[in-house]
Amino acid sequence: MHRTVIVISVSARPDGSESIFCPGLFTPTAAQDGTLVRIRVPGGIVNSQQALVLAEFAAKLGAVDLQVTNRSNVQLLVKSLDQADFAALQAVGLAAPIASVDRFRNIMASPTAGIDPQMLVDTRPLVKSIDSYISSSPHLTGLSAKFSIGIDGGEALSIGQRPNDILLLARPAGLRLMLRMSDGSPGGDASLTAKSGSPTGQMLDTRLVWGLEQAVEVFATLSDLYLQHSGAIPLVPSEHRRSRQPRFRHLVKHWGLDWLRANCPGAELTRETVAMPQGGYQYLGVHSQLQSEYFYLGVVLPLGRLTLEQLRGLAEIAAIYGNSEIRLTPWQNIILPNLPAIQPVIGALERLGLSVNPKHSAGSIAACRGTLGCAAAVIDSQNHALAAIRQLTLTSPVQIHISGCDKGCAQPLPSDIALKGTSQGYEIYLHAPGAVFGRYLYPAMPADRALEVVQKMLQVHQALSPATSFRDFTDRHDLSTLLQFFHA
Ligand code: SF4
Repeated sequence: MHRTVIVISVSARPDGSESIFCPGLFTPTAAQDGTLVRIRVPGGIVNSQQALVLAEFAAKLGAVDLQVTNRSNVQLLVKSLDQADFAALQAVGLAAPIASVDRFRNIMASPTAGIDPQMLVDTRPLVKSIDSYISSSPHLTGLSAKFSIGIDGGEALSIGQRPNDILLLARPAGLRLMLRMSDGSPGGDASLTAKSGSPTGQMLDTRLVWGLEQAVEVFATLSDLYLQHSGAIPLVPSEHRRSRQPRFRHLVKHWGLDWLRANCPGAELTRETVAMPQGGYQYLGVHSQLQSEYFYLGVVLPLGRLTLEQLRGLAEIAAIYGNSEIRLTPWQNIILPNLPAIQPVIGALERLGLSVNPKHSAGSIAACRGTLGCAAAVIDSQNHALAAIRQLTLTSPVQIHISGCDKGCAQPLPSDIALKGTSQGYEIYLHAPGAVFGRYLYPAMPADRALEVVQKMLQVHQALSPATSFRDFTDRHDLSTLLQFFHA
């Protein structure tokens, strides 16, 4: 088999044109305490053998743990890549044989693909076919590292609302192309709209439909369009677009939806309307599968983190009790599928220090690496989030996002409470539709004070409106009323 191993230098693009903010396996980025590498896992499914190889790879490089990312990938903070055995990862399919295209394997699918009782199409073969295409296509090297595709098979645990440049709705009638037209970030390009079409929130329904067997053709068509035309797009100056490469939506904004349709000859144009999949399915804990003899377990990982010992233990549990699969979720937790019995698995997980309790506080808190792993960070969001997991008392699920700067990478969708990192501490925000951070509530304050304020907000909600969710409670009041409540 053809294997090429290239480590592209830290913080430089292959063409040397700009810094890399999204680490890859062969394109690591410098972090405060080492080097950050990201291993792409298309569809988020790893098996026990891959997990053990991954643990070995990480241990050899001095990593103490790994982190599941919000794209179902795996991130490692390593001391050095000098001893990196890339060939071991390539041999088990955890890295592309052609190093220069590895970081474009950005393919997301539901973590319950193929096992979800509501699914309409099993998307796993589609993910595999696109991954094979990317992994063997050196001409894709000029893509943006953020060029990403999600495939939604109609599962209850939908990834349709997750931020993918391209979303394919896989339905029995075919693959329908939706495009993400905004990143939702403050100061970002939320105002982008296509010249025609059907905006659905931040998504544009192109009404283009391919056959289910044409997944690779869809990807090849769109990636070729990007490669041929992205160089002609004028850059939109924005402090939130650090990359100098446009996103796919900027091509459609520039030339219009009719241009896109004219350049997709393999697709049919449909008049039928379609509902956008909704998120919010609670998958932690015990769940029935489509295959009635099996269950799946949603397991909580604090901030997506897993020690190498826990990873090895999970590999063993999956092999003994399941079908060897461990599924990484874009919500930074994991799913163990295909379990005929539950109690022994829960016991084995507890011995590893892992919980399946849907009310665990770690299930509510998301944070990026902050200063521990990102050059743009202004605050140690990761350790502050670990403190929040220890200190906050949550009596009902409340989504809390703690961000290392104003970009909000860890939680691209609106959360109930957001702490935005600044050089003076954290500003505090409350949910607002369509905005990563939401309504500005409090100016910047030190991290420990911010956690006290959040705890008070949670207590006030429980005292005044325990029967409604935190989000419903805050959504129904204006900010001045809420401030009176919180200060009473
Ligand atoms: S939100 Fe976090 S990961 Fe994203 S750029 Fe800011 S500090 Fe870095």
